[in-house]
Amino acid sequence: MTTRRAILTTAGAVLAASAAAGAPAITGKAWDTVVVGAGVFGAWTAEALRRAGQRVLLVDAWGPAHAQASSGGESRMTRSDYGADEIYSRMAHASLGEWQTLSTVAGLPIFLGCGVLFLFQRDEAYARDSIAVHRRLGLPLERLDPGQLKARWPQMAFDDIAFGLHEADFGALMARRAVQTLVDRFVRAGGSYAQAAIQPPAEGAHLDTLVTATGERIAAGRFVFAAGPWLPKLFPALLGTRIFPTRQEIFFFRPPAGDARFGPARLPGWADWNAGDLVYGFPDLEARGFKLAQDKHGAAIDPDAGDRIASAEGLAFARDYMARRFPALAGAPLSEARVCQYENSANGDFLIDRHPLWRNVVLVGGGSGHGFKHGPEVGRLAAALALGDGAPEPRFSLASKGTIQARAVH
Ligand SMILES: Cc1cc2nc3c(=O)[nH]c(=O)nc-3n(C[C@H](O)[C@H](O)[C@H](O)COP(=O)(O)OP(=O)(O)OC[C@H]3O[C@@H](n4cnc5c(N)ncnc54)[C@H](O)[C@@H]3O)c2cc1C
Repeated sequence: MTTRRAILTTAGAVLAASAAAGAPAITGKAWDTVVVGAGVFGAWTAEALRRAGQRVLLVDAWGPAHAQASSGGESRMTRSDYGADEIYSRMAHASLGEWQTLSTVAGLPIFLGCGVLFLFQRDEAYARDSIAVHRRLGLPLERLDPGQLKARWPQMAFDDIAFGLHEADFGALMARRAVQTLVDRFVRAGGSYAQAAIQPPAEGAHLDTLVTATGERIAAGRFVFAAGPWLPKLFPALLGTRIFPTRQEIFFFRPPAGDARFGPARLPGWADWNAGDLVYGFPDLEARGFKLAQDKHGAAIDPDAGDRIASAEGLAFARDYMARRFPALAGAPLSEARVCQYENSANGDFLIDRHPLWRNVVLVGGGSGHGFKHGPEVGRLAAALALGDGAPEPRFSLASKGTIQARAVH
């Protein structure tokens, strides 16, 4: 009870501080670095810079992991299955320790180790490559045939499934709580957070000052822009054709009364490869409901103006899939539907690179529907780039970001 009160007070303190923040709090100070955007990428970058001894100001127009940010909402999957994309398997593993540490200091869990089950209808290169990468890295990954799947999770139907890959060490991250807890820890440890909307920086030879929507000027030595799906609005010429926000729908259903088979103690997070158009979901976490969503990219969306009402077609797909894979949930009542957005790069690789004209500016984004789990590593890499002279990881460079959508990372 004490811990629960503590976390509520804590989250409230951050939000109250942001509401109270005005010109005197953010202007006229000698910030080493200003980070724009308190989603999962910006929050971890700010924390990494703070740990490196920087005086950091983190700002967000609405608040850490707010309802329309890509980092908002309830849950995100963390997994190291990435086919041949070993870089993301490594990053997921490296990030998991940070998430577990954050989870232990939060009043309520941030990481739930319910495991993750990937399902395949046939032999797929993605599965073969995942197995090879896990072997190479010495990471655990279980291959289960339909009989073993049925024995372990009898509440699921595996009629069309050839095999599954199970990662027992991974599971779910409680998204909004994770980011808000992180920002709170950052502030308690000496970082600064304020609510402010930053205007697109004016073109020029240098960037040394940001201007807020209400006219305050914030000077700093370095800047990190981690504005998620808003990056194209801040840098239209540079990123307007390189980051593609898409509309994604998520559904929560209520399991039968008194039925514990769909809770995290009995059911893992799961993803159905489904020929590359992934369908995925979570058990009923914290009684929010059984979650089901399509990972396939939806239509283009403007994060400010896009409508947030889920479609009848999306709901019908979710119901149909759920009835096939989880027969006892056929007809379960809908508890909640949400519309979020992915902020995709052309192929799904992240963007972590310096601005081409301003050496003191780092751009971070392109989470592409799979970025949340990597927050700690993305923050570490972005902070290193902001502080050092090193080159970016080639796959995360601006130069590698195409202008035609051709998804390659899942
Ligand atoms: C439905 C859905 C499901 C997902 N599932 C998974 C999953 O299972 N596993 C996984 O690992 N990842 C998943 N992801 C992806 C992951 O959540 C995102 O890649 C990640 O949250 C992106 O974080 P971000 O910090 O880049 O962006 P955001 O969270 O959007 O943060 C950007 C912030 O910048 C702020 N901002 C923008 N412009 C300005 C400005 N001018 N001034 C001040 N502030 C500004 C915004 O207010 C916002 O808070 C999912 C995403 C969605 C939407």
